[in-house]
Amino acid sequence: MRIGIIGAGQLGQMLGLAARDLDIECRFLDPSTSPPARTCGEVIQRPFDDAEALADLAATCDVVTYEFENVPVAALQRISDDVAVYPPLEALRQAQDRLLEKRLFERLGIPLPAYQTIDSLQDMVSAAGALGLPMVIKTRRLGYDGKGQFVVRKTSDIEPAWQALGTQPLIAEQWVPFDYEVSAIGVRSVDGEICYYALSQNVHENGILRTSRSPVDAPQLAARAANYMRLLLEHLDYVGVLALEMFVSGDQLLANEFAPRVHNSGHWTIEGAATGQFENHLRAVSNLGLGSTAGRGHAGMINLISDIPDKVRAIDNGFLHDYGKEPRAGRKLGHITVIGDTADHRDVLMDSINKTVT
Ligand code: AMP
Repeated sequence: MRIGIIGAGQLGQMLGLAARDLDIECRFLDPSTSPPARTCGEVIQRPFDDAEALADLAATCDVVTYEFENVPVAALQRISDDVAVYPPLEALRQAQDRLLEKRLFERLGIPLPAYQTIDSLQDMVSAAGALGLPMVIKTRRLGYDGKGQFVVRKTSDIEPAWQALGTQPLIAEQWVPFDYEVSAIGVRSVDGEICYYALSQNVHENGILRTSRSPVDAPQLAARAANYMRLLLEHLDYVGVLALEMFVSGDQLLANEFAPRVHNSGHWTIEGAATGQFENHLRAVSNLGLGSTAGRGHAGMINLISDIPDKVRAIDNGFLHDYGKEPRAGRKLGHITVIGDTADHRDVLMDSINKTVT
């Protein structure tokens, strides 16, 4: 079995590491000179939409998947007659545009924050009136890790927000005074089998995920989240791992966005679940039968951003993953996972690592 993976970043690397245990060979496509997944298989160093390189992957692989959602859909469409491409391109198309994504949530009856489309400065003024302030302006396309966002806190922020982002199609979103953020991670196989991981509680700083903790002690929320996940997976005839990020506000569970891929908030599953998200994604797309998503203890994940301090390398009660990337401010360089016997034990382990990281 050979799998073509578009993107050779850390998600590609962790897919590649999981592939070894399943005796799956990986070939990657990525324009970067020294991507993290280079140690896990051949990397074709060409742009993501390079027709020749994609045709090469289609001809040499049994299935093609992707590890980030900004792959041009049209480029993948061209090879989809020659090779199975999972997750389905319709999921990618919807996830690439926040407006389509929100309309999909609405069609499926998944609750979400109030929003408006913005095509002019006047639309922004009207949105402020309708949604109230603060509100968040987001680019419809190509936003990630909080990039392409502007929080409008007072009327005088509207003009600067328009100056910063107004050249692109936008949406305005009601500010959600959330209690906390969670993500649901689910996986669906070619045969339609579905498995769910326990919910993760996630903390973001400046739009970038900082920590995840799982499970979350909220069975009713988990049941609702699993239902939303199932609606998405079935509607999209989805194959692979899907992540759904949500806000918890009082008794409301509001969908923020979904990612048609393995997800940072599911990294804890490598050590914290019977079968990690990377292995299950590979199992799903290559029709190998899904592995159990049962949790093992109380997992915590800390992202290592900008720097991996030597003291963190010396820690012996966590699982360190170093992606082998050049350090740069704001860049995700690795993560560390701890497994506690109880939630309190997990939090003690995380606190001691957090002191070393920050
Ligand atoms: P996103 O790129 O949409 O996932 O946003 C990144 C992070 O910004 C989220 O995980 C939240 O922490 C925060 N955020 C985004 N949208 C909102 C919102 N409408 N209300 C409050 N916080 C938000």
